Amino acid sequence: MTTAGLVDQYGRVATDLRVSLTDRCNLRCTYCMPAEGLAWLPNSLVLTDDEVIRLVRVAVERLGVDEVRFTGGEPLIRPGLTKIVTAAAELSPRPRLSLTTNGIGLDKLARPLRDAGLDRVNVSLDTLDAERFDRLTHRRRLPDVLAGLAAAQAAGLAPVKINSVLMRDINEDEAPALLRFALAEGYQLRFIEQMPLDAQHAWDRIRMVTAKEILSTLEAEFTLLPDPAERGGAPAETWLVDGFTGSDGRPAKVGVIGSVTRPFCGDCDRTRLTADGQVRNCLFAREESDLRGALRGGADDEEIARRWRTAMWAKRAGHGIDDPTFLQPARPMSAIGG
Ligand code: SAM
Ligand code: SF4
Repeated sequence: MTTAGLVDQYGRVATDLRVSLTDRCNLRCTYCMPAEGLAWLPNSLVLTDDEVIRLVRVAVERLGVDEVRFTGGEPLIRPGLTKIVTAAAELSPRPRLSLTTNGIGLDKLARPLRDAGLDRVNVSLDTLDAERFDRLTHRRRLPDVLAGLAAAQAAGLAPVKINSVLMRDINEDEAPALLRFALAEGYQLRFIEQMPLDAQHAWDRIRMVTAKEILSTLEAEFTLLPDPAERGGAPAETWLVDGFTGSDGRPAKVGVIGSVTRPFCGDCDRTRLTADGQVRNCLFAREESDLRGALRGGADDEEIARRWRTAMWAKRAGHGIDDPTFLQPARPMSAIGG
């Protein structure tokens, strides 16, 4: 068996696989999709559970992937999720397994997912205010998200991380309140700069809440100290929150993912698989490589691995958002898998 990894022409090695399990979602976050939703992928194009499991196996066994994150759309609405996690946890070498979710339904699924082998979750929560939550997501589901977070903590899916996106004129002032909540509950909070990946193409660089702005708002209330831990390929820059302890008994941390103003492309170790079986070498890639066709056309594992390596070799040096020729990818975030 060949085990050459996913190397690109700049020497980066992708070991972290993001698998989108569906492009559908039960929320409508304004920075992600329009209130009326999107034209979903037809079922016939979406990988079956067995196809997903096979591609994850190829990635782990032949391509050196050691971390698998399930995402979407909303991965908790995929009926086969527990089966897929169980199969991924049986792979050798066993990859670390995590899930990015909006948290709706996690109150019931946290324990079964933990039992299936899931290690961790990231739950997206942008506001603690019910009225703002409705405005941001077009759904009245804040209590469900809070219940999902608590269930994840109780099930030991630790550390439970929260992802927050701040939007101008909606929740731009909420960074300190979100951090207070996370510190009190023992969650690890990370802010993500809003990226040009919304289906409506409404992103506006000038109105974006920047990493710098988020940090200065936090510093008005908290003392943030440099985190001595190695960042590696992690997208979040992290700080220790002086005087607070995390649920693991270590100093509490807060993170900021400055994808736009502080890009980390040079250290990126990601490869992505969409729900319809396309490899993407970057969130912002405009090209994809079709593995579903290969899979359904009878390709063996080595042929699939070869195609995947070729796709990753072509990864660009950076996302190019600041380049005047930048074009937003055709797929929105919900269909790529964030
Ligand atoms: N539905 C799940 C969720 O919301 O966590 C998983 C998919 S969602 C696309 C993954 C992450 O991408 C979420 O944390 C969400 O906040 C983030 N996201 C979506 N659109 C974004 C955008 N335009 N800019 C920055 N982050 C975005
Ligand atoms: Fe759904 Fe996640 Fe997009 Fe929000 S960010 S609409 S929860 S896919």
